[in-house]
Amino acid sequence: MFKERYFPSSRLKEWLTAHTIETEIIGSSELGKPIHAIRVGEGPVRILMWSQMHGNESTTTRGLLIWLEKYLQSSTYQEELSLFIIPQLNPDGADKYTRANGKGIDLNRDALTQSQSEIKVLMRIVEEFRPHYNLNLHDQRTRFTVGDTNKEAALSFLSASADETCKITSTRIAAMRLINHMVSSLPNHFKMHIGRYDDAFNPNCTGDYFHAKGIPTVLFEAGQLGKDYTRTEVASIIAHCLSNLLEFLSKPIPEQSDEAILKEYGEISENKTNSYDELVITEKHQFYVRYIEVLVKNQIDTVFEFTSYDQVDLSLVNLRQILDYRKGTSEEQQLIRLRLSQYLENE
Ligand SMILES: [Zn+2]
Repeated sequence: MFKERYFPSSRLKEWLTAHTIETEIIGSSELGKPIHAIRVGEGPVRILMWSQMHGNESTTTRGLLIWLEKYLQSSTYQEELSLFIIPQLNPDGADKYTRANGKGIDLNRDALTQSQSEIKVLMRIVEEFRPHYNLNLHDQRTRFTVGDTNKEAALSFLSASADETCKITSTRIAAMRLINHMVSSLPNHFKMHIGRYDDAFNPNCTGDYFHAKGIPTVLFEAGQLGKDYTRTEVASIIAHCLSNLLEFLSKPIPEQSDEAILKEYGEISENKTNSYDELVITEKHQFYVRYIEVLVKNQIDTVFEFTSYDQVDLSLVNLRQILDYRKGTSEEQQLIRLRLSQYLENE
Protein backbone atom coordinates (compact mmCIF):
# COMPACT_ATOMS: atom_id res chain seq x y z
CA MET A 1 0.00 0.00 0.00
CA PHE A 2 2.98 2.32 0.44
CA LYS A 3 4.59 1.68 -2.96
CA GLU A 4 2.70 4.28 -4.97
CA ARG A 5 3.44 7.99 -4.99
CA TYR A 6 -0.22 8.87 -5.47
CA PHE A 7 -1.63 8.80 -1.93
CA PRO A 8 -5.15 10.26 -2.01
CA SER A 9 -7.45 10.77 0.97
CA SER A 10 -9.22 7.45 0.25
CA ARG A 11 -5.97 5.58 0.81
CA LEU A 12 -5.37 7.31 4.13
CA LYS A 13 -8.94 6.45 5.14
CA GLU A 14 -8.30 2.82 4.20
CA TRP A 15 -5.19 2.79 6.38
CA LEU A 16 -6.98 4.38 9.33
CA THR A 17 -9.86 1.88 9.07
CA ALA A 18 -7.46 -1.07 8.89
CA HIS A 19 -5.77 -0.07 12.17
CA THR A 20 -7.37 -0.10 15.55
CA ILE A 21 -6.37 3.39 16.55
CA GLU A 22 -8.34 6.28 17.77
CA THR A 23 -8.58 8.97 15.18
CA GLU A 24 -10.34 12.27 15.21
CA ILE A 25 -11.50 14.70 12.58
CA ILE A 26 -9.97 18.06 13.46
CA GLY A 27 -11.56 20.11 10.70
CA SER A 28 -12.19 20.12 7.01
CA SER A 29 -10.48 21.25 3.84
CA GLU A 30 -11.59 24.10 1.58
CA LEU A 31 -13.55 21.57 -0.50
CA GLY A 32 -15.11 20.03 2.61
CA LYS A 33 -13.02 16.88 3.06
CA PRO A 34 -12.23 15.76 6.61
CA ILE A 35 -8.73 16.32 8.03
CA HIS A 36 -7.80 13.38 10.23
CA ALA A 37 -5.52 13.29 13.25
CA ILE A 38 -4.11 10.58 15.47
CA ARG A 39 -3.08 11.13 19.08
CA VAL A 40 -0.69 8.77 20.82
CA GLY A 41 0.80 8.88 24.31
CA GLU A 42 0.34 11.05 27.36
CA GLY A 43 3.86 12.14 28.13
CA PRO A 44 5.10 15.61 29.04
CA VAL A 45 6.99 16.24 25.76
CA ARG A 46 4.49 17.30 23.10
CA ILE A 47 5.32 16.78 19.43
CA LEU A 48 3.10 17.86 16.56
CA MET A 49 3.70 16.50 13.07
CA TRP A 50 1.93 17.14 9.81
CA SER A 51 2.50 15.71 6.36
CA GLN A 52 1.11 16.27 2.85
CA MET A 53 0.48 19.96 3.43
CA HIS A 54 1.49 19.78 -0.26
CA GLY A 55 -0.87 17.18 -1.71
CA ASN A 56 1.56 15.56 -4.16
CA GLU A 57 4.24 15.05 -1.49
CA SER A 58 3.37 11.64 -0.12
CA THR A 59 6.76 10.09 0.66
CA THR A 60 6.83 11.47 4.18
CA THR A 61 3.20 10.41 4.74
CA ARG A 62 4.08 6.87 3.72
CA GLY A 63 7.22 6.96 5.90
CA LEU A 64 5.17 8.30 8.79
CA LEU A 65 2.64 5.47 8.51
CA ILE A 66 5.38 2.81 8.18
CA TRP A 67 6.91 4.15 11.41
CA LEU A 68 3.52 4.51 13.13
CA GLU A 69 2.58 0.88 12.46
CA LYS A 70 5.68 -0.25 14.35
CA TYR A 71 5.31 2.39 17.03
CA LEU A 72 1.75 1.37 17.84
CA GLN A 73 2.81 -2.27 18.21
CA SER A 74 5.67 -1.49 20.57
CA SER A 75 3.76 1.13 22.62
CA THR A 76 7.05 2.70 23.74
CA TYR A 77 7.49 6.24 25.08
CA GLN A 78 3.78 6.65 25.72
CA GLU A 79 4.56 7.99 29.18
CA GLU A 80 7.32 10.26 27.88
CA LEU A 81 5.82 11.68 24.70
CA SER A 82 2.49 13.06 23.51
CA LEU A 83 2.20 12.87 19.76
CA PHE A 84 -0.31 14.73 17.64
CA ILE A 85 -0.13 13.41 14.09
CA ILE A 86 -1.84 14.94 11.03
CA PRO A 87 -0.91 12.55 8.21
CA GLN A 88 -2.57 14.57 5.45
CA LEU A 89 -3.22 18.25 6.04
CA ASN A 90 -4.25 18.89 2.42
CA PRO A 91 -6.67 16.11 1.35
CA ASP A 92 -7.92 18.12 -1.67
CA GLY A 93 -4.40 18.48 -3.05
CA ALA A 94 -3.68 14.83 -2.23
CA ASP A 95 -6.68 13.75 -4.33
CA LYS A 96 -5.77 16.04 -7.23
CA TYR A 97 -2.05 15.28 -6.83
CA THR A 98 -1.19 18.95 -6.65
CA ARG A 99 1.09 20.95 -4.39
CA ALA A 100 -1.65 23.51 -3.79
CA ASN A 101 -4.93 22.93 -1.97
CA GLY A 102 -8.40 22.73 -3.54
CA LYS A 103 -8.48 26.51 -4.04
CA GLY A 104 -5.08 26.58 -5.74
CA ILE A 105 -3.31 28.09 -2.72
CA ASP A 106 0.11 26.92 -1.52
CA LEU A 107 -0.53 26.22 2.17
CA ASN A 108 3.15 26.63 2.98
CA ARG A 109 2.86 30.27 1.89
CA ASP A 110 -0.23 30.97 3.98
CA ALA A 111 1.12 30.91 7.53
CA LEU A 112 0.86 34.64 8.11
CA THR A 113 -2.19 35.29 5.95
CA GLN A 114 -4.10 32.25 7.26
CA SER A 115 -6.64 32.53 4.47
CA GLN A 116 -7.24 28.79 4.00
CA SER A 117 -9.20 26.43 6.23
CA GLU A 118 -6.37 23.84 6.32
CA ILE A 119 -3.96 26.41 7.80
CA LYS A 120 -6.59 27.63 10.23
CA VAL A 121 -6.97 24.03 11.44
CA LEU A 122 -3.19 23.72 11.89
CA MET A 123 -2.98 27.03 13.80
CA ARG A 124 -5.86 26.04 16.07
CA ILE A 125 -4.18 22.70 16.88
CA VAL A 126 -0.91 24.50 17.69
CA GLU A 127 -2.80 26.80 20.04
CA GLU A 128 -4.62 23.96 21.78
CA PHE A 129 -1.88 21.32 21.84
CA ARG A 130 1.02 23.74 22.55
CA PRO A 131 3.75 21.57 20.97
CA HIS A 132 7.33 21.70 22.20
CA TYR A 133 8.40 20.58 18.71
CA ASN A 134 6.87 20.60 15.24
CA LEU A 135 7.77 18.23 12.40
CA ASN A 136 6.86 19.68 9.02
CA LEU A 137 6.96 16.85 6.48
CA HIS A 138 7.43 17.34 2.72
CA ASP A 139 8.84 15.97 -0.56
CA GLN A 140 11.31 17.81 -2.78
CA ARG A 141 11.61 17.56 -6.56
CA THR A 142 14.20 15.38 -8.32
CA ARG A 143 16.56 18.25 -9.11
CA PHE A 144 18.47 18.58 -5.83
CA THR A 145 22.11 17.68 -5.26
CA VAL A 146 24.31 17.92 -2.18
CA GLY A 147 26.66 20.95 -2.07
CA ASP A 148 29.69 20.70 -4.34
CA THR A 149 29.19 17.02 -5.04
CA ASN A 150 27.34 15.22 -7.79
CA LYS A 151 25.36 13.20 -5.25
CA GLU A 152 21.64 13.63 -5.33
CA ALA A 153 19.93 14.92 -2.19
CA ALA A 154 17.65 12.05 -1.22
CA LEU A 155 16.63 13.83 1.98
CA SER A 156 16.98 17.44 3.05
CA PHE A 157 16.36 19.33 6.26
CA LEU A 158 16.01 22.91 7.40
CA SER A 159 15.92 24.78 10.65
CA ALA A 160 14.25 27.90 9.24
CA SER A 161 15.05 31.51 10.07
CA ALA A 162 13.01 33.38 12.66
CA ASP A 163 13.51 36.84 11.18
CA GLU A 164 14.95 38.75 8.23
CA THR A 165 18.45 38.90 9.69
CA CYS A 166 18.53 35.07 9.89
CA LYS A 167 20.04 35.34 13.37
CA ILE A 168 20.61 32.15 15.30
CA THR A 169 18.00 31.83 18.05
CA SER A 170 17.61 29.17 20.74
CA THR A 171 14.55 27.90 18.83
CA ARG A 172 16.62 27.43 15.68
CA ILE A 173 19.37 25.72 17.69
CA ALA A 174 16.81 23.30 19.18
CA ALA A 175 15.61 22.32 15.68
CA MET A 176 19.21 21.96 14.47
CA ARG A 177 19.93 19.65 17.39
CA LEU A 178 17.16 17.29 16.23
CA ILE A 179 18.34 17.40 12.61
CA ASN A 180 21.93 16.65 13.68
CA HIS A 181 20.75 13.69 15.70
CA MET A 182 18.78 12.23 12.79
CA VAL A 183 21.64 12.70 10.33
CA SER A 184 24.14 11.05 12.70
CA SER A 185 21.87 8.02 13.11
CA LEU A 186 21.48 7.36 9.37
CA PRO A 187 23.17 4.43 7.63
CA ASN A 188 26.57 5.48 6.21
CA HIS A 189 25.68 4.92 2.56
CA PHE A 190 22.80 7.37 2.97
CA LYS A 191 24.66 10.16 4.80
CA MET A 192 26.25 11.47 1.59
CA HIS A 193 22.72 12.08 0.26
CA ILE A 194 21.66 14.58 2.93
CA GLY A 195 21.25 18.23 2.05
CA ARG A 196 20.23 21.38 3.83
CA TYR A 197 17.98 24.15 2.53
CA ASP A 198 19.07 27.76 2.60
CA ASP A 199 17.54 29.80 5.39
CA ALA A 200 16.29 32.92 3.56
CA PHE A 201 13.41 34.21 5.70
CA ASN A 202 9.82 33.98 4.47
CA PRO A 203 7.30 34.68 7.25
CA ASN A 204 4.51 33.04 5.25
CA CYS A 205 6.27 29.64 5.36
CA THR A 206 5.17 27.57 8.33
CA GLY A 207 8.71 26.79 9.57
CA ASP A 208 9.73 30.47 9.60
CA TYR A 209 6.40 31.44 11.16
CA PHE A 210 6.70 28.97 14.03
CA HIS A 211 10.36 29.84 14.59
CA ALA A 212 9.32 33.47 14.95
CA LYS A 213 6.86 32.23 17.59
CA GLY A 214 9.54 30.19 19.37
CA ILE A 215 8.42 26.62 18.51
CA PRO A 216 11.31 24.54 17.11
CA THR A 217 10.12 23.21 13.75
CA VAL A 218 12.04 20.71 11.64
CA LEU A 219 11.45 20.75 7.90
CA PHE A 220 11.87 17.32 6.26
CA GLU A 221 12.10 17.09 2.46
CA ALA A 222 12.08 13.53 1.13
CA GLY A 223 13.84 13.34 -2.24
CA GLN A 224 14.85 11.12 -5.09
CA LEU A 225 17.36 8.27 -4.82
CA GLY A 226 18.53 6.68 -8.07
CA LYS A 227 15.74 5.56 -10.34
CA ASP A 228 13.35 4.68 -7.54
CA TYR A 229 10.58 7.04 -8.61
CA THR A 230 8.19 5.52 -6.10
CA ARG A 231 10.63 6.72 -3.37
CA THR A 232 10.00 3.54 -1.41
CA GLU A 233 13.51 3.40 0.09
CA VAL A 234 13.37 7.06 1.08
CA ALA A 235 9.98 6.46 2.75
CA SER A 236 11.60 3.77 4.88
CA ILE A 237 14.47 6.18 5.71
CA ILE A 238 11.83 8.69 6.91
CA ALA A 239 10.43 5.96 9.18
CA HIS A 240 13.96 5.31 10.46
CA CYS A 241 14.51 9.04 11.15
CA LEU A 242 11.23 9.39 13.05
CA SER A 243 11.94 6.35 15.13
CA ASN A 244 15.40 7.65 16.09
CA LEU A 245 14.16 11.15 16.71
CA LEU A 246 11.36 10.13 19.04
CA GLU A 247 13.64 7.86 21.01
CA PHE A 248 15.99 10.84 21.38
CA LEU A 249 13.17 13.10 22.57
CA SER A 250 11.87 10.54 25.03
CA LYS A 251 14.98 10.97 27.20
CA PRO A 252 16.70 14.01 28.68
CA ILE A 253 18.60 15.67 25.81
CA PRO A 254 22.36 15.54 26.48
CA GLU A 255 24.13 18.87 26.98
CA GLN A 256 25.84 20.30 23.92
CA SER A 257 27.03 23.85 23.37
CA ASP A 258 25.26 26.05 20.82
CA GLU A 259 28.56 26.44 18.96
CA ALA A 260 28.96 22.67 18.63
CA ILE A 261 25.36 22.26 17.44
CA LEU A 262 25.75 25.07 14.92
CA LYS A 263 29.04 23.63 13.65
CA GLU A 264 27.59 20.15 13.18
CA TYR A 265 24.54 21.55 11.40
CA GLY A 266 26.78 23.70 9.19
CA GLU A 267 28.61 20.57 8.08
CA ILE A 268 25.49 19.41 6.25
CA SER A 269 26.00 20.76 2.73
CA GLU A 270 23.54 23.18 1.27
CA ASN A 271 21.43 21.92 -1.62
CA LYS A 272 22.15 22.75 -5.21
CA THR A 273 20.05 21.89 -8.23
CA ASN A 274 22.30 19.83 -10.51
CA SER A 275 20.32 16.63 -10.82
CA TYR A 276 18.60 15.57 -14.04
CA ASP A 277 16.53 12.54 -14.93
CA GLU A 278 17.98 12.19 -18.44
CA LEU A 279 20.75 13.39 -20.70
CA VAL A 280 19.63 12.95 -24.31
CA ILE A 281 22.29 12.78 -27.02
CA THR A 282 21.51 12.82 -30.72
CA GLU A 283 23.72 13.64 -33.69
CA LYS A 284 22.89 17.35 -33.61
CA HIS A 285 21.53 17.94 -30.11
CA GLN A 286 22.35 17.32 -26.47
CA PHE A 287 19.99 18.34 -23.72
CA TYR A 288 18.89 17.48 -20.19
CA VAL A 289 15.43 16.39 -19.10
CA ARG A 290 13.65 16.60 -15.77
CA TYR A 291 10.45 14.83 -14.95
CA ILE A 292 7.40 16.53 -13.49
CA GLU A 293 4.65 14.24 -12.34
CA VAL A 294 1.00 15.04 -12.92
CA LEU A 295 -2.19 13.12 -12.38
CA VAL A 296 -4.04 11.99 -15.52
CA LYS A 297 -7.13 9.80 -15.14
CA ASN A 298 -6.12 8.79 -11.61
CA GLN A 299 -2.67 7.67 -12.71
CA ILE A 300 0.62 9.49 -12.35
CA ASP A 301 1.94 10.65 -15.70
CA THR A 302 5.14 12.51 -16.49
CA VAL A 303 5.67 15.78 -18.30
CA PHE A 304 9.13 17.03 -19.21
CA GLU A 305 11.21 20.09 -18.48
CA PHE A 306 14.21 20.70 -20.74
CA THR A 307 17.60 22.33 -20.12
CA SER A 308 20.10 22.94 -22.87
CA TYR A 309 23.48 21.22 -22.61
CA ASP A 310 25.60 24.36 -22.21
CA GLN A 311 23.65 25.57 -19.17
CA VAL A 312 24.85 22.74 -16.95
CA ASP A 313 28.05 22.45 -14.92
CA LEU A 314 29.39 19.07 -16.05
CA SER A 315 31.63 18.59 -13.01
CA LEU A 316 28.66 18.64 -10.64
CA VAL A 317 25.91 17.08 -12.70
CA ASN A 318 23.99 14.10 -11.36
CA LEU A 319 22.31 11.93 -14.02
CA ARG A 320 19.87 9.08 -13.70
CA GLN A 321 19.92 8.01 -17.31
CA ILE A 322 21.80 8.70 -20.55
CA LEU A 323 19.87 8.22 -23.76
CA ASP A 324 22.35 8.16 -26.66
CA TYR A 325 20.71 7.78 -30.05
CA ARG A 326 23.72 6.10 -31.66
CA LYS A 327 23.89 3.42 -28.98
CA GLY A 328 20.16 2.97 -28.42
CA THR A 329 17.93 0.03 -29.27
CA SER A 330 15.16 0.77 -31.76
CA GLU A 331 12.77 1.24 -28.83
CA GLU A 332 15.11 3.76 -27.16
CA GLN A 333 15.62 5.55 -30.48
CA GLN A 334 11.88 5.98 -30.77
CA LEU A 335 11.78 7.45 -27.26
CA ILE A 336 14.70 9.78 -28.08
CA ARG A 337 12.96 11.03 -31.24
CA LEU A 338 9.90 11.81 -29.14
CA ARG A 339 11.96 13.72 -26.55
CA LEU A 340 13.80 15.60 -29.31
CA SER A 341 10.58 16.74 -30.96
CA GLN A 342 9.28 18.03 -27.60
CA TYR A 343 12.61 19.70 -26.88
CA LEU A 344 12.61 21.49 -30.24
CA GLU A 345 9.03 22.60 -29.71
CA ASN A 346 10.07 24.11 -26.37
CA GLU A 347 13.12 25.94 -27.68
ZN1 LIG B 1 6.32 20.68 0.23
